[in-house]
Amino acid sequence: MSLCCRLRRDPKILLSSGLVAHHSSHYGCAMLDHLKANNRAWVERMVSADPDFFRRLEGQQTPEYLWIGCSDSRVPANEIVGLDPGELFVHRNVANLAPPQDANYLSVLQFAVEVLKVKHIMVVGHYGCSGVSAAVDGKRRGLVDHWLHPIREVYHEHHDSLDAIPDWSARLDSLCELNVIRQVRNVASDVFVQEAWARGQDLRVHGWVYSLANGLVTDLDVTIERLGYQRKLAPDPQVKTEVNRLD
Ligand SMILES: [Zn+2]
Repeated sequence: MSLCCRLRRDPKILLSSGLVAHHSSHYGCAMLDHLKANNRAWVERMVSADPDFFRRLEGQQTPEYLWIGCSDSRVPANEIVGLDPGELFVHRNVANLAPPQDANYLSVLQFAVEVLKVKHIMVVGHYGCSGVSAAVDGKRRGLVDHWLHPIREVYHEHHDSLDAIPDWSARLDSLCELNVIRQVRNVASDVFVQEAWARGQDLRVHGWVYSLANGLVTDLDVTIERLGYQRKLAPDPQVKTEVNRLD
């Protein structure tokens, strides 16, 4: 029996558990009804279009893509690239980072590469990223300041070219791109990816940026596809500089 059902029968469980400071008359079970209704409507739509959809999905997960993107609610991974459930493995965090010490990201990466054997990993930043802005606006916010530290390092490495951009918003957009390129390097240099390439596994790491203004994805053309970081160089000299540092 689910916790929710048990609570309906015996609300004292909730009161004695100390799980909540206050509660509604329905003990949380009737909350968010509009989302539950949306869920049922979505299921009906999916089943009416494809009666076997969920049966098939339950039986296998074989996505060809791993999306590493920002947690921003305006950047819904599957919708942006028109993929159904089961077609995109997703990892999201503030400012789409791929830190080599983050067990969460590393677990996703290992599972995607070694078990799912995805063929493409896309690091997807977005212009107007609050995380990128918060990294360099000089304000203190607490724990997230530590999380965003890698972005400050990217800014520091490129401060000459970034400081030369007079418009603050444009400067942040450039930093968003540089951050994506740095994360592509992190992913490509990770031991799971390096070992996959050593085994001859078909795998490419891409860097994209999404525009909140028009919904379009831009490929930064920094794809890495094999050991030794062979890749196409980007036409943007600033991007080229960063990519060349991969050597
Ligand atoms: Zn963001």
